[in-house]
Amino acid sequence: MWYNNGTSDGAIDNWLKYIENYFREIITIRVIKSNTKKMLTVKLYDDKPYEKEFTGRIVSVSEAADGGCLIELDQTLFFPEEGGQTSDRGKLSGFDVIHVSINDDIIIHEVDCGIADLHEGDEVRGIIDWHHRFSNMQNHTGEHILSGLLHSRWHSENVGFHLSDNIVTLDTSKELGREDLKELEKEANKVVYLNLTVTCRYYSEEELAGEEYRSKKALESDVRLVTIPDVDVCACCAPHVARTGEIGIIKIIKAIRYKGGMRLTFLAGERAYDYLCGVHDTIEEISHTLSESPDSLNEAVTRILRENNELEIKIKNAAKARLEADIGELPPDITDAVIFTDPVDNIVQRNAVNELSGRYTGICAVFASDEKDGYNYILSYPSGDARDISKLLREKLDARGGGSKEMVQGNVKAMEADIREALTKAHKDL
Ligand SMILES: [Zn+2]
Repeated sequence: MWYNNGTSDGAIDNWLKYIENYFREIITIRVIKSNTKKMLTVKLYDDKPYEKEFTGRIVSVSEAADGGCLIELDQTLFFPEEGGQTSDRGKLSGFDVIHVSINDDIIIHEVDCGIADLHEGDEVRGIIDWHHRFSNMQNHTGEHILSGLLHSRWHSENVGFHLSDNIVTLDTSKELGREDLKELEKEANKVVYLNLTVTCRYYSEEELAGEEYRSKKALESDVRLVTIPDVDVCACCAPHVARTGEIGIIKIIKAIRYKGGMRLTFLAGERAYDYLCGVHDTIEEISHTLSESPDSLNEAVTRILRENNELEIKIKNAAKARLEADIGELPPDITDAVIFTDPVDNIVQRNAVNELSGRYTGICAVFASDEKDGYNYILSYPSGDARDISKLLREKLDARGGGSKEMVQGNVKAMEADIREALTKAHKDL
């Protein structure tokens, strides 16, 4: 035989085994690679963040625990919930895509359909909700600008981010004053005006070694960096706008101290525009109501509050004078001294009851009216226990309140005549 050139059979066997093992390993590696590749969902949104429709093949279909189906596709434009951002939504073969999740680079679409509606191997057409997606792209890129500026200018790091469907929060590691926040917002909007190009691409381990970038965790290779020149370089998996001008506007609407740093709530793009329109409408309405120009609203409101405060003091003083006059007009030979009066300060009311208690032995009470909530009452019963009167008011008129033997206070929703009748009866019964 051609290979029998003097070598022993054993050597040939070993050689054949070596060849066999070599090819088996090659085949095994290819199978593993092929399987691994097949399992991972191709993220079309990585390179095509502006595409709105796509075609994919169903890899698997299963029933979701709370209704609907879980669909895995070979490729998708739907961005899953990841990195603090809510998922895309839209349609898959006409069915609503309610939520999209990712686990080990496999993307699962939660679809509002029956198990028999879509099948493994089917080619399906997906349409993402572009309005929702673009809003997320505007707000997410806005977050990069704010975080990049916080990092470079204020040495304050992003330690948390949440992009919901209506609000965006950014947690930063340092506290910033009001003026700093105003400057941050102004600088962020300048970056918008510059209309800088935003690039997103994967970096190899070698390329990454020479890059400085923000990242919440240590990364080694296949890192996707989002770069806004001279503003920010950050590892991120989400879709972003191509140019900062598309963000339109960035508005910080709230800043609170949070875990040693700050939580900033901000809006970008159309969300910021809608918010500012709402605020403007409110200002216009208040301006119209007060017949004041928007520019002088602050002074006008301050003046109105001061005038209101002065009026309240006048009303309180008038009510006090009226109550004192009512007490002065009470005949000296009565047993029960019950007064119904206008709303009055609680301390004034209490002092009045104390004064009555010194002069009369029966039920001494002041009922201060409140048209909406009924009468606020304070009463004493010098010759008995005030709690007994309070108990009877509870039983007869569903009054509320309580206190000590000397004095009780509460509230009762009833007519003056009914209260007087109940008190007269109570005095007779006790
Ligand atoms: Zn990002």
